[in-house]
Amino acid sequence: MQYKPVDYAETDEHRMIQETIRRFVADKLKPIAAEIDEKERFPEEVIKELGELGLLGLVASEEHGGGGHDVIGAAIVAEEISKVCAGTYTSAQGHVFCLHWIEKYGTPEQKAKYVPRLASGEWIGGMAITEPEAGSDVASLKTTAVRDGDEYVVNGNKIFITNANVADVIVCLVRTGGPGPKGISTLIIETDTPGYMASKPFEKLGNRASPTCELALEDCRVPVSNLLGKENKGFIESMVFFPFERALVGVCCGALCEAALDEAVNYCKERKQFGQPIIEFQMVQQMLAEMAVDLQATKMLTRDVLRKYAAGEDANLEASIAKIYGADAAMRVTMNAVQLLGGYGYTREFPVERWFRDAKLFAIGGGTSQIQKLILARGLM
Ligand SMILES: Cc1cc2nc3c(=O)[nH]c(=O)nc-3n(C[C@H](O)[C@H](O)[C@H](O)COP(=O)(O)OP(=O)(O)OC[C@H]3O[C@@H](n4cnc5c(N)ncnc54)[C@H](O)[C@@H]3O)c2cc1C
Repeated sequence: MQYKPVDYAETDEHRMIQETIRRFVADKLKPIAAEIDEKERFPEEVIKELGELGLLGLVASEEHGGGGHDVIGAAIVAEEISKVCAGTYTSAQGHVFCLHWIEKYGTPEQKAKYVPRLASGEWIGGMAITEPEAGSDVASLKTTAVRDGDEYVVNGNKIFITNANVADVIVCLVRTGGPGPKGISTLIIETDTPGYMASKPFEKLGNRASPTCELALEDCRVPVSNLLGKENKGFIESMVFFPFERALVGVCCGALCEAALDEAVNYCKERKQFGQPIIEFQMVQQMLAEMAVDLQATKMLTRDVLRKYAAGEDANLEASIAKIYGADAAMRVTMNAVQLLGGYGYTREFPVERWFRDAKLFAIGGGTSQIQKLILARGLM
């Protein structure tokens, strides 16, 4: 009897996607994963090739150059990339959400212009919501977009924006009306627009292959035709994406648990102390067993959410649960993997220290664990 982690793939199509992404990741990402973390290098070539393979636009409609697949296909891609390099997936995720946003709310012209380019990887995308004074409290954002003829003049600052310095286009939340959530709109901003200025990426603890930047928008003139969705409805419209983003973060958490457990089991079988492989020690077995429980629980929670979304059902609170649990599980499992590899675990000879650093993001990005708990508590009340 051998333990096998939960497999998201349920159909032949899913298995085909899984095979393709596994092969790609083994050939193209695994060999560079340590280097792009070390050098904080954005692997643009990987993102482009993912696009060429059709793996970035899986959920987008075929009409717009996408694959027309369900969300489980997208989750399989997220999982396989994250198992090897969470940072690469963080960038892919910012890109993919830019694409989904435009496909969901875009006019026929906007979809025709942007979605095929993003799906193919020809263009790189991002999404700019967070501001220096508006993180968890998105509705208080201050970046303004003031109408001037057939343009909006955008002024303000965003922070922690994934891909801001490498993107060709971003979707950006701006204030077009009064205070609060009802004065917010979404604009599609091409990054060669004068007044768009991305900073050098932050130096980060983990996810270092993914550039995270400040963004200044100074008298940035955006055509009114680039309004995405309805004016002053941007906040409500954006809320549609966050639960799915949370579900995908849950997938990444499961991926890191799986990668770290695999690495730990292999190491513990090989490493001998006191004349025997350390996996023979019951205290080590207990740690591995607890890691497997975290892995199984995270993946079952996430699979439930994915199945519901694939069936068109609501699973927004369950997505928060999966993210809350998965983020803590990924920290515990990667930390225990470091512990089980002893001194080597603490070095860059093995990937577990990188996964441990990467795992911390999951309780912060895409809505912190505290905010997820507030959402959940509201659901209970
Ligand atoms: C690597 C990385 C990539 C990112 N990529 C993007 C991106 O592409 N686009 C984008 O728009 N943003 C991005 N972000 C921003 C991310 O979404 C925010 O960091 C996150 O939402 C938290 O906001 P904040 O950092 O302002 O923290 P704050 O909101 O200031 O929170 C600080 C602390 O206070 C807690 N807190 C806040 N409010 C409450 C409350 N009501 N009750 C209890 N506790 C509370 C939080 O949980 C947290 O622990 C990224 C962040 C990182 C680190």
